[in-house]
Amino acid sequence: MQNQYLILTDSLREKKKLIIQKNDIINSLQEFGLTNLTKVPVCSIENLAVNIDNTWRGVCARKCIGCSSGAVDPSKTKQQIHELNPNLLKSLLEVAKVLANEGYHILSKNRFSLFDGSNELENQHCLELRALMSTYYEDTYGLNGFGAISSDLVFHITPHKTFKHNLSALLERPEWFDNICVAIDEQTPFNSEYEYQKYLDTVEWVWKELLPALCCELEHAKSEKSFTPRVIINFLIPGSGRFFNEKYKELLPGIERAKTYKELEQRYVEPYVGSIQRVQDNIPNHHVFTNFVAKLSKVKGSRVYISYSEFEPVGRARSLINSNSWDYPNLYLQPTIKTKIYPSDKHSFVVQSCLSPNCYSNGELSWELCNKPEWLKSIETIEFNLENIIEASSD
Ligand code: SF4
Repeated sequence: MQNQYLILTDSLREKKKLIIQKNDIINSLQEFGLTNLTKVPVCSIENLAVNIDNTWRGVCARKCIGCSSGAVDPSKTKQQIHELNPNLLKSLLEVAKVLANEGYHILSKNRFSLFDGSNELENQHCLELRALMSTYYEDTYGLNGFGAISSDLVFHITPHKTFKHNLSALLERPEWFDNICVAIDEQTPFNSEYEYQKYLDTVEWVWKELLPALCCELEHAKSEKSFTPRVIINFLIPGSGRFFNEKYKELLPGIERAKTYKELEQRYVEPYVGSIQRVQDNIPNHHVFTNFVAKLSKVKGSRVYISYSEFEPVGRARSLINSNSWDYPNLYLQPTIKTKIYPSDKHSFVVQSCLSPNCYSNGELSWELCNKPEWLKSIETIEFNLENIIEASSD
């Protein structure tokens, strides 16, 4: 083959396809603008993705009714779901490393997630993907693991056996993540009391599993953070003056969804690890959503971060909450361009950007608030194919 890369047009998706060659990564990508990503480095690689109406979305079986990322319920789509298999991630990171070594840092060195639109711990490749990310940050930047940057392990509790396996295994590798963020809210739909009871049984299991983390006994990729609080309990309610829409008012027949932080605490924290007791410890500066540090009355030596949040007016939450004038709280409105990578088949990925309310949010605002840069529009028309790199790696 004469050319170092090929451009094909996929008429169905109207994407140009760039086949990246192992021996010409820099030149081919410079020409097609990927190196522009150094202006807004990628902060997320979705581990499950689907294209609906020309927009890529995460896919998540949790079906949370207020999901800020608007993750697609896999049972509700006929479109093909693409997964981030370890070979694809490995090759993508190989490309990113070659670029980084030449000064083009296309992946964020500060904050990175593999799960914006999915429940990471339910992914069968979760451990391999975290391990690959760790190796990338170690080899490229000399860090001590993925946990050395903001790479929180964020989850909704689910009785899924993969979830339990992954959580137990990840707790053995505390350098692979930064903090552990446990979502305590009532977004997950339950079809029966039996399902809800299974959920409660898993809540109990999770608190037991997290005991060493609750007691600050975990090492951290940054030595100065070893043996410090590691768990953030993220409470989420509609917020003052807002209500769940009639359709979602009840969690189960006869049981209303919790509207206060106290109700959530009494249902999902207190019976298992005791009440939340505020202590006067300092909150690290970068914890912008942490309200205070607490101990748990039934866990000796515990220290956790408590975050009291309200649903953001983004994604599905807009149909969950009854509010006619739901403005974004100014405090948290700092529109930020985020670039994300989505697997588009087993060898390829695409880049898609969004305008988020702030750098921590998974939600999306309208681009009317900000002109989308031309270079981003251009990158989004290309599908990057890594088949040659994957093959070369497996030789
Ligand atoms: S909030 Fe998280 S766990 Fe729930 S559906 Fe969205 S991505 Fe999945």
